[in-house]
Amino acid sequence: MKLIRFEYRGRVFQGEVAGEEVITQEYNLPLNQVKILTPSQPSKIVCVGLNYMSHAEELNMEIPDKPVIFLKPPSAALEHLGSIVYPYMSRRVDYEAEICAVIAKKTKNVSRAEAMEFIQGYTCFNDITARDLQQQDKQWTRAKSFDTFAPFGPFIETDVDVDNLKVELYLNGKLRQTGPTSDMIFSIPEIVSFISEVMTLLPGDIIATGTPPGIGELKVGDEVEVVVSDVGRLINYVIGEGDSSRRVSMIQRKSYCS
Ligand code: MG
Repeated sequence: MKLIRFEYRGRVFQGEVAGEEVITQEYNLPLNQVKILTPSQPSKIVCVGLNYMSHAEELNMEIPDKPVIFLKPPSAALEHLGSIVYPYMSRRVDYEAEICAVIAKKTKNVSRAEAMEFIQGYTCFNDITARDLQQQDKQWTRAKSFDTFAPFGPFIETDVDVDNLKVELYLNGKLRQTGPTSDMIFSIPEIVSFISEVMTLLPGDIIATGTPPGIGELKVGDEVEVVVSDVGRLINYVIGEGDSSRRVSMIQRKSYCS
């Protein structure tokens, strides 16, 4: 099942996507006539720092023995087709393609074996990072927290086996990152269990699980797309601060669902 949150004629709805249609209790609507919103409204966005074996090797970093976690504020959330705003404070903004889990219910101190019961489903995530500020500040809050730095969506896929999915990033239509979820250092249940020992997770909270190798730089005018096999495709545009116009996609696509 693909769960969607969307706006139609000024009202917000939740529903299910079936092919090119959206099904709600009130209406069936063509998907292309609704404005897709972030599929959840998280109280927090929790991210894992370094979680793909080959990415750790690429960066020449030691394999961590526990997940390194950090937060993005909910104000950083951005919907599918929304515009990432390039902050004037930064000279280097990067993409990071990730898969994220969406929390289904209040989660505290769950074991690895129980963790999957607390996950509603999965969606695509782009961990936008001001890399220069991350290096300057030594800690990550500013670099990771600008408004629009947490695009996720478009839908929550509830029926998917996450053990061997492909996480990819396309920049202006060209493949830049690819990695299988089987390359993760910490599995998704391990991550959710670990975070739940630190903080209470609430319905809609987002757990982003790290990025495969190939991270790189974004520029104003770019179109960036995170594709997770069997989960979806998340497309966003990069605009300058103070630039209100959204770039129209130059790449025609038949469907949002891969
Ligand atoms: Mg990341």
